[in-house]
Amino acid sequence: MENIKNLFNNFGSAFFERLGYLLNPVLLKFKNEDKQLLIFYFHGIFESTKEKELNHIDPQKNMTVAQFVDFIDYFLYHNYKFIVPEDLNCYLKNNQPYAMITFDDGYFNNMLAIEILNKYKIPATFFISTKNIMENKAYWWDIIYKYRSKEGISKENIKNEQNWLKNFKYSVIDNYILKTFGIEAFTPWSDIDRPFNPEEIKQLSTSPYVSFGNHTHNHSILINYNKEEVKEELNLSNKVLLELTGTLPIAIAFPNGNFNQMVLEATEEEGFLYAFTTKFGKNAVPLSTNKLICLNRYMTNTTKINKFGSFCRLGYEPHSLYENLKIKTKFKIK
Ligand SMILES: [Zn+2]
Repeated sequence: MENIKNLFNNFGSAFFERLGYLLNPVLLKFKNEDKQLLIFYFHGIFESTKEKELNHIDPQKNMTVAQFVDFIDYFLYHNYKFIVPEDLNCYLKNNQPYAMITFDDGYFNNMLAIEILNKYKIPATFFISTKNIMENKAYWWDIIYKYRSKEGISKENIKNEQNWLKNFKYSVIDNYILKTFGIEAFTPWSDIDRPFNPEEIKQLSTSPYVSFGNHTHNHSILINYNKEEVKEELNLSNKVLLELTGTLPIAIAFPNGNFNQMVLEATEEEGFLYAFTTKFGKNAVPLSTNKLICLNRYMTNTTKINKFGSFCRLGYEPHSLYENLKIKTKFKIK
């Protein structure tokens, strides 16, 4: 006992995290994920790490194409079947694990991923903020990131400014950008930060490997709005998607992952079947489909793909493993 206590004291969280990174892939190998649906969300995708360094978009946890290929290889090798929300209507009868790839926002750079999807013949869902698409309008968090990076502001302060703005409606955010950086800030810099255009969405809607979902019209963080306004955001986006793709989306991804009871009610009343959150966790299949179903998603991770999401998939987050171990062992650790 004393030895284990010493181990905790001497090595601390860094040791257990490193241990986790080594052990998790092994543990996952024996953990049965059959009849489970793992959903992953991406934002942008980079051609290369060089492209990432140009600072045209907020890198978030964006992968390079090579990392995306590794991601797909990992799950195909482990016998996961890739599906889209439309497949959830059918009874998923195979006793196997399922995975879903989702991209939020509607970046044109997602074309890099679509080339890979076509090659592997696997589908993905793209949650689109339609106002950006219709007006070729840069995403506001990227504007903050680009301009503040140029000014030499620290990553931490950029994050703080972005997080502060998330408390407001899109009109307030737009105004802030206009006053701070000028009207030209809304114009994308390149194919790295621009949204898809309407013609591209139209063409992609004919692909068997592309499905579209709602991500509101203005990338509105819905908890900042009243019910009428929420419905308006969902409706406007649905209208554009119907016009461009000929289909009404059955799924929505809440911008920034934020929702509350009112948002769920409005979403259900607007006829959506699936609401994609950013709460991490697996989903059990098959799912019943008579009312709105909330689905958990894992954020993608650019660390070594063979350890993909391993902390999360085992029910931990990096940095929480040590705390959990402390509680489990009930040791008093200084
Ligand atoms: Zn988004």
